[in-house]
Amino acid sequence: MTAMVKAEGVHKSFGPIEVLKGIDLEVAPREVFCLIGPSGSGKSTFLRCINHLEKINAGRLHVDGDLVGYRQNGNKLHELKDSEVALKRRDIGMVFQRFNLFPHMTALENVMEAPVQVKGETKAVARDRAGKLLDRVGLADKAGNYPSQLSGGQQQRVAIARALAMEPKLMLFDEPTSALDPELVGDVLDVMHGLAEDGMTMVVVTHEMGFAREVGDSLVFMDDGVVVEVGNPRDVLTNPQHDRTRTFLSKVL
Ligand code: ADP
Ligand code: MG
Repeated sequence: MTAMVKAEGVHKSFGPIEVLKGIDLEVAPREVFCLIGPSGSGKSTFLRCINHLEKINAGRLHVDGDLVGYRQNGNKLHELKDSEVALKRRDIGMVFQRFNLFPHMTALENVMEAPVQVKGETKAVARDRAGKLLDRVGLADKAGNYPSQLSGGQQQRVAIARALAMEPKLMLFDEPTSALDPELVGDVLDVMHGLAEDGMTMVVVTHEMGFAREVGDSLVFMDDGVVVEVGNPRDVLTNPQHDRTRTFLSKVL
């Protein structure tokens, strides 16, 4: 089976600072792949590389069967054109810590926007799907609300529906519940759990170890730009093999 994401020796630097120091990872189709690690370890940067928001400096990165980055010895061997990047990014949904909804649009309009603007879908088709997606995230009754009239958890669920509206093959979540009040986290995790059950391939950066344990198929611990440990979430959480993983888990569990 072709991996949805395959990273081989991926390096990424910002100027003199090397943030990813050779990442090797593989995400299978339908897999829920959780990524944990201290702040600054390169988790967001790695997600941004998968989503073509950053270009890698060395190594190979395959996303959905395509080689999207391949550089060696500083030589550019393969790089997508901007137009190709735009097409590829349509197939990847991303959800951030901050929901970034359009404030002047209702929940329904937020979810309709990309298919209409990017794919040229008719408003009728987009509206129909947006309604169904809001229902799926438990917000059918909030379709006409503006973001300011929604709680943080509700806004995040709209953001998930908005990403799903492009019918992505892969969903990337970057600490989707970190900005939420604790009592709002569960509803967002429930939506993500449902997506996982429906077979969505997901890469999830999270501090929610319960989610990683219950829903994750794989758990990666990253530190200082390298993969320290990867395995079954239960194994990694209950029986970490490395001191760095143990130290991190002792602080967050
Ligand atoms: P994490 O998500 O694990 O907290 P990040 O990937 O956000 O880590 O950041 C890893 C390191 O890369 C940090 O030291 C951060 O300051 C640095 N970094 C991230 N993006 C940039 C950028 N655009 N320019 C310079 N440094 C960056
Ligand atoms: Mg981050």
